[in-house]
Amino acid sequence: MARIVMKFGGTSMAGIERIRGVAARVKREVEAGNQVAVVVSAMAGETDRLVGFCREASALADPREYDVVVASGEQVTAGLLAIALQSAGLKARSWLGWQLPISTSDAHSSARIQDIDTAAVLKAMAGGEVAVVPGFQGLTAGVDGAGGRITTLGRGGSDTSAVALAAALKADRCDIYTDVDGVYTTDPRIVPRARKLDRITYEEMLELASVGAKVLQTRSVELAMKEKVRVQVLSSFSDAPGTMVVDEDEIVEQELIAGVAYNRNEAKVTVVGVPDKPGAVAAIFGPLADASINVDMIVQNIAHASKTTDVTFTVPRTELARSLDVLAAIKPEIGYAEVLSDDAVAKISVVGVGMKSHAGVAVTMFKALADRGINIQAITTSEIKVSVLIAEEYTELAVRVLHTAYGLDAAA
Ligand code: ADP
Ligand code: ASP
Ligand code: MG
Repeated sequence: MARIVMKFGGTSMAGIERIRGVAARVKREVEAGNQVAVVVSAMAGETDRLVGFCREASALADPREYDVVVASGEQVTAGLLAIALQSAGLKARSWLGWQLPISTSDAHSSARIQDIDTAAVLKAMAGGEVAVVPGFQGLTAGVDGAGGRITTLGRGGSDTSAVALAAALKADRCDIYTDVDGVYTTDPRIVPRARKLDRITYEEMLELASVGAKVLQTRSVELAMKEKVRVQVLSSFSDAPGTMVVDEDEIVEQELIAGVAYNRNEAKVTVVGVPDKPGAVAAIFGPLADASINVDMIVQNIAHASKTTDVTFTVPRTELARSLDVLAAIKPEIGYAEVLSDDAVAKISVVGVGMKSHAGVAVTMFKALADRGINIQAITTSEIKVSVLIAEEYTELAVRVLHTAYGLDAAA
């Protein structure tokens, strides 16, 4: 007998027919003698719809009430799955985030899980009952005797709920069921010749998730790595073998590059004519940090004869307007010439632990893009990743070209 956590994403939960399909998968695991807890997402599109209501109600909605609204999609699917499981002849009940509770920080809309009280779930599972837990939601600690407030974990957060529950339950496995049958060398919706990976290292999965491969939320991978949770990505719609996320030493033949990812959520800002003197860059990024704006890629040109330089960087697209406001406010103090911005950019990244021991990975990338006339606007690297910023219109072409350049295409 194994103890497993099964997580089903939005597409898998979209409608009663699909929820019945999920119940059938859960039933198989129960009948195989396993103890099962299930974590569910809201139906596909539902969280977007709820976010839309909040925006419509107020551009500056109270983040605590925003979480009350957007967390509700998972309450619906948790209840519906419990009903479907009961109809399939199983014992099942839902446990909402506040009922366990799943305790989180009070950073509304991007809260971190601090603790999960598993007593109720363990008792239910020991009694042969399936525990259904809504993903994405939690509860803050109460203040002065008052109860806590509902929180959400950030978009895609049900993956993190599942891994955290698996860690807390000391589960043997955390199976993430989604609408593709595993982790591919790149998004299979963009590159039909993407290959499914049998295994991927935690480190590569973490890097791929953080540069845009949305198949697993970044925090869920971080947590799985730290807590040594065995995560597997599988399809809700087929029985094909999925992808196991593993330690580096469990991979026999390491490929140079594990995958290619893209991210269209950034915008580029260039501050032109910044005086070339100590402290100038700090004077730009300090106020951005104070405004909680996360800067990603940074490029500084060498000084012109005029003793000024240009500083280019990227910020989340949703923060572009705020970034420009911050820069406008500090213009007198810094004395730059002007600010340019462009939100039609995309960041393309290649990731692989093989890079640690191989030279020339970046050059292959630069050449392949140059051959197609794709201009590189900024570059960043880490030990196992190279990212470039390009014009957004070339996103799909760049991903395909790089996929081929690194020999990742599946045989035709
Ligand atoms: P869920 O609702 O099940 O959480 P998501 O939409 O969050 O599903 O994540 C699955 C999607 O991730 C896939 O449909 C696919 O388009 C996308 N994706 C991006 N990169 C990859 C990749 N390298 N491998 C697999 N899927 C990827
Ligand atoms: N329903 C939430 C979202 O759409 C959480 C999730 O699906 O993981 O972001
Ligand atoms: Mg997801």
